Amino acid sequence: MSQLRKTENHKNITYYREAFSDIKVYINNNKSGKALNQPILILSVIDLITQGFINDKYILISDELIDRFKKYWEVLGSGSYQGSDFALPFFHLKNQKGKFWHLKFSSEYDGGRPQSIPKLKHDIDYAVLDDELFSLIQEQNSRKDLIDALVSAWFSSDEKKIEDVIDINLKFEDASLKTENTTESEKENIQSSPKWSLRKSLIREAFFRKEVVHIYDYRCAFCGLKVKKSINQTIVDGAHIKTIVDGAHIKPFSEFYDNRINNGISFCKNHHWAFDRSWFTVDKQYRIIVSEDLEEESPHAKPMKDFHGEKLILPKSEEHFPEQEALEWHRQKFEG
Ligand SMILES: [Zn+2]
Repeated sequence: MSQLRKTENHKNITYYREAFSDIKVYINNNKSGKALNQPILILSVIDLITQGFINDKYILISDELIDRFKKYWEVLGSGSYQGSDFALPFFHLKNQKGKFWHLKFSSEYDGGRPQSIPKLKHDIDYAVLDDELFSLIQEQNSRKDLIDALVSAWFSSDEKKIEDVIDINLKFEDASLKTENTTESEKENIQSSPKWSLRKSLIREAFFRKEVVHIYDYRCAFCGLKVKKSINQTIVDGAHIKTIVDGAHIKPFSEFYDNRINNGISFCKNHHWAFDRSWFTVDKQYRIIVSEDLEEESPHAKPMKDFHGEKLILPKSEEHFPEQEALEWHRQKFEG
């Protein structure tokens, strides 16, 4: 608790990670669950900044923001959506202990809290993010960190299992645009049209990474490395663990838009890098094939070449194994 106050003078990534993890949510009386309106609102704002719909620190009560919020609400919220689900968190975020959301009240504000979107628009001109936070969201790596903090704290409880994530992928994806058959012009469409922009959502990538490393028990499938490090001393439960392994796409997301678990393998940073550059690949029996061209010096760790012929460390359940078709694609790239 004192941690927040101590760091308030120099707000940095740690400050905001902690602020996001520490949001006080309201208990939803109808259900056993907590009302996740505020985390969902932050996700929606980050999403729109990432995609260029929001270009500065001023957060207007726009149709885009409300729409994005509703999309996330459909898969992450509880109960059917009402205007108050958006209006109240927009208003209440200012009260969080970790200050990052500031409101510009309209001249007509007459007290109380807005229960509907028209009333919110009447009461509030816009919200303002800290300058520090806005620039952290714009920067790719810190943005990933912030999203991971939100997802870890709020959307990975025991009730939110893989099925939910798959559900998210289905809802945000159009079945008619199956990746294998996507033509060049369709791809251009995907990349230029805001309608398809959810496909590129970093938040969905955060879910992908999170689920893949979870399925692989936070271990690198190549070398077995497993390091867990808590963000800080005050947070000790398992939900807040940050790992140095990463969920890697077998077929690159930028080309195939495939965030299914079977298109993922958990690798440490080094082996993720090496896999993406085809320094090694995997055969039909999931054995590691290291490139003969690879020259390396590895005085303190087992060289990559020594893993040649070893089997990947796979998930417990066969249904989560890497897809053969995706591995085949990777082998072709490796050989080419
Ligand atoms: Zn590794």
